[in-house]
Amino acid sequence: MTSTSSADLFARAQQVIPSGVNSPVRAFGSVGGTPPFLTDAKGALLHDADGKEYVDLVGSWGPMILGHANEQVVEAVREAAGRGLSFGAPQAGEVTLVEEVVSRVGPVEQLRLVNSGTEATMSALRVARAATERDVIVKFAGCYHGHVDALLAEAGSGVATFAMPGSAGVTASTARDTVVLPYGDRDAVAALFAERGSEIAAIITEAAPANMGVVPPLEADGIGFNRFLSETAHAHGALLISDEVLTGFRASREGYYGVDGPTGTDDAWAPDLMTFGKVIGGGLPVGAFGGRKDLMGLLAPAGPVYQAGTLSGNPLATAAGMATFAGLDAAAYETLGSASRTLQQLVADALTTAGVPHVIQTAGTLFSVFFREEPVTSYEDAKNQDTAAFTRFFHAMLDAGVYLPPSAFEAWFVSTAHTESVLDRIAAALPGAAKAAASA
Ligand SMILES: *Cc1c(COP(=O)(O)O)cnc(C)c1O
Repeated sequence: MTSTSSADLFARAQQVIPSGVNSPVRAFGSVGGTPPFLTDAKGALLHDADGKEYVDLVGSWGPMILGHANEQVVEAVREAAGRGLSFGAPQAGEVTLVEEVVSRVGPVEQLRLVNSGTEATMSALRVARAATERDVIVKFAGCYHGHVDALLAEAGSGVATFAMPGSAGVTASTARDTVVLPYGDRDAVAALFAERGSEIAAIITEAAPANMGVVPPLEADGIGFNRFLSETAHAHGALLISDEVLTGFRASREGYYGVDGPTGTDDAWAPDLMTFGKVIGGGLPVGAFGGRKDLMGLLAPAGPVYQAGTLSGNPLATAAGMATFAGLDAAAYETLGSASRTLQQLVADALTTAGVPHVIQTAGTLFSVFFREEPVTSYEDAKNQDTAAFTRFFHAMLDAGVYLPPSAFEAWFVSTAHTESVLDRIAAALPGAAKAAASA
């Protein structure tokens, strides 16, 4: 017997898959209702098992930056598939993909491919700890770095969506080696390093936090927060790991480092290690971590840090990644930026007209909408918004055929396929949804 409606599929799924999903936010737990089971997607449009069409503003949480089923990407994967699905041995696509990243992102001298963002951050921590012979990792509240044990404390994304303090199943000794500080709090960073600097292996931060909603790093005295972190870490023999899994090749051609990295030699700064995912795989499971050659040289087999993967550097994944990069030229970033700005304006107009308190924050072409009046600079701020208003807004948009992230703590993702006619469909849905948000 086969069930085909979303409701039937969800009921079956809940019998055999925990909460019916393979990643928590997909369960619609915080907004309620049945998640649509998707059947196919093209460009900016999704179709579900109930025959409904949606304009997509999730984009698989970032990878579908050229839109769904992009012809060049699909053709590249099809072609690669015909030559073999996996070798477990070197293949040319790995070299081409890594060369592309190295050429785009200054601080990346060497890169290793893995299969998810989680693997990338986990491996970067291991390298940092080996290089410094120290244990302690500093992270910021509201930043999400995948479901790595050591990084789940006060994490963003699903941990924020479900208001979890962290995760069960993480040992006390693991948690002890992670110090969580408020995002953007320079005094807290300085105080921690003054007290425990010699124990700290690395600071890990999202280059621009986007998993508690978008909270861009702020400047103070002409120094950006990321540069401040780099200088503070280095003054104490620690490293900076910049997590660009979400912002990489989306915030700009070079990721967020292209937005707040140095423009002149006099203020040169760089993270020591960087992590990537999402866009780099064009929709297939890929992550990567890289940075300074001396650090990456610590990896086995040349060095003492073990890290491996049966499917790492998979030929289909590298083909999808390269085809995606091929589409990400200057014109593509123009299109993304313009779609993002237009959408922000449409949302602001609709919410303002309906009298719904909101603030829209951006990081490059990324943006998110907080249902509160004042700017958000920390996780504490992000949590202090009207999530009930968001839920009403979300369901009204969904009913009107617009698929938003099912959480008030996520960025909204546009693609190069979000053309004017697609944005018009969103514009048509917004006034009703804004009214619903206002109807407390
Ligand atoms: C999505 C994300 C991760 C985790 O990547 P997965 O591929 O889901 O494991 C890590 N860091 C950031 C900043 C992310 O947005």
